[in-house]
Amino acid sequence: MKNIILLAAPAAGKGTLASILKDVYKLPHISTGDLLRDAAKEDSPIGKEISEILASGNLVSNEIVYKLLERKLKSDECTNGYILDGFPRTVEQAIEYENILNKLNYDLGKVILLDVEKGILKDRIVGRRLCKDCGAIYNIVSHKPKKENVCDLCGGSLYQRSDDNEESFENRYQTYIEKTQPLIDYYKEKNILYTVDGSKDKDYTFNQVKSILESGE
Ligand code: AMP
Repeated sequence: MKNIILLAAPAAGKGTLASILKDVYKLPHISTGDLLRDAAKEDSPIGKEISEILASGNLVSNEIVYKLLERKLKSDECTNGYILDGFPRTVEQAIEYENILNKLNYDLGKVILLDVEKGILKDRIVGRRLCKDCGAIYNIVSHKPKKENVCDLCGGSLYQRSDDNEESFENRYQTYIEKTQPLIDYYKEKNILYTVDGSKDKDYTFNQVKSILESGE
């Protein structure tokens, strides 16, 4: 199995797809958003700075992101492939990522673009809730937990991300259009971009991705 990059607007379903791929293909899921949310919990000036940027919906500095990512990619769990979610987010990051890959002797692999229209993304963001213990993802409209605010899987309590509100969404979406969308052409030119309709349910999305990953191209 090669390395996989998931490319998509906020709330297009990268996290949900990554957790299915992780179970099916036994690959680690590396989310730069999760790495940053962990770093933001640190009681230090840098932790506080990251936490403020996350809440605003702006991008965190490359310096911080590269450091966290490279440390993770070097770990033993990543030597047989991994699922990258939330990185790269700019062409500049994509170029630096290739430098990191060269150093580690890793492949670029395949890039999966989850295509979802803006209106659907907004509804998903506003209703999204996450389990604070196992990270399972719910939606208070379309995928409710059996008991309000309690995770079906582990019993942990559910929370709403500080940036899962309409205002942050508009900023994150704009950032995606301006900074991340150019990556679509960047990876198209390299012939490693595969576009998937992410607007339906998770099984539909997964089945499309499965055939791409197993096509052996
Ligand atoms: P996500 O969990 O992917 O939606 O990311 C949440 C937030 O983390 C983003 O809005 C950014 O503030 C930050 N973030 C995640 N990945 C990156 C990245 N590759 N570069 C810069 N900031 C990032």
